[in-house]
Amino acid sequence: RKIGVALVGLGYYSRDLLAPALQLTEHCELRGIVTGSPDKIPVWQSKYGIPDKNVYNYESMHQISSNDDIDVVYIVLPNSLHKKYTIIGAEAGKHVWCEKPMATTAKDCEEMITACKKNKVQLTIGYRMQHEPVTRKIISMAKSMPFGSLEKLKAEAGFRHGGGDGTHWKLHPELGGGAMFDMGVYPLNAARYATQMEPISVSARIENSRPDLFKVDETTYFDLEFPKGIIATCKTSFAENINHLRVDCQSGWYELKPMQSYRGVGGKSSDGQIFEPFLGNQQARQMDEDALAIIQKTQVLVPGDEGLKDIRIVEAIFRSSANGGKQISL
Ligand code: NAD
Repeated sequence: RKIGVALVGLGYYSRDLLAPALQLTEHCELRGIVTGSPDKIPVWQSKYGIPDKNVYNYESMHQISSNDDIDVVYIVLPNSLHKKYTIIGAEAGKHVWCEKPMATTAKDCEEMITACKKNKVQLTIGYRMQHEPVTRKIISMAKSMPFGSLEKLKAEAGFRHGGGDGTHWKLHPELGGGAMFDMGVYPLNAARYATQMEPISVSARIENSRPDLFKVDETTYFDLEFPKGIIATCKTSFAENINHLRVDCQSGWYELKPMQSYRGVGGKSSDGQIFEPFLGNQQARQMDEDALAIIQKTQVLVPGDEGLKDIRIVEAIFRSSANGGKQISL
């Protein structure tokens, strides 16, 4: 039997990426929805054949506990709501897949981990790049070190956000908006997975060229210090299109450009190797691997702890920038 997934929140990422990917998965399928928008229900029901008994709203979501069709709730909501609905899902006895960033405070992440442990359900964070084959090669190179030991790293991800009418939650702090939470976790996570180390200090600075439109960080620069003097120079932005990971080593370098993209990431290294993009569906691959971890009762690839580690660093990034770029020990 395939693992049954209920998507919680039917916005852009659920509609355009996850639901289509769930038509391609081998080990899981879309069986339920949780939404606060009644107008979306008939559209999703007719498109994906979802029966009435598998449709919930945010108030009735806890009743999913008695629904054997659903094994997993996948939280695809504004960032500051991840905690509340992860805990509702866990207490209903369902495994939880939660989108990145895991939450907006480390304390929230810890509560999510505790709730999932207590209810003996798996918690996995939607860092799809960690499942992606070219990214996995970069991760393995941190261990095989084909160019000797790592010396420095650069990681950047962002895009030019037009801002629209300024009302979207990603432009407001209360719901966990801002470049750092939205795109900044990609370079942050990449700096950690490409070194296979944890940073020991961080310093950061925020720039906002459109303060009337952006009530959140528009561009965040952060430098992570890793053991052995390795520095990762990182940047995220809603002001420009940036997408690059470069690792410099003793006797060579390698890079991904783009470092994160639904259409595949690719790159090259100083010895002339080309990393050809994986052209399969990244979300389907991620969800199939996470479904297999449930079926086989194995450790998930990206557990809650991995999301928590990033959010602890994000908190330090905000603290540093609020203190004039002061170096913060981690
Ligand atoms: P979105 O705004 O398009 O969708 C959010 C959904 O939440 C909407 O359907 C909205 O109606 C619903 N919602 C419920 N309560 C709400 C409230 N109080 N205020 C506002 N909306 C509310 O956002 P999205 O781009 O789909 O992002 C959702 C999550 O998915 C975010 O955590 C985001 O970081 C993540 N995401 C991940 C990826 C990835 O590649 N892994 C890509 C895009 C988004």
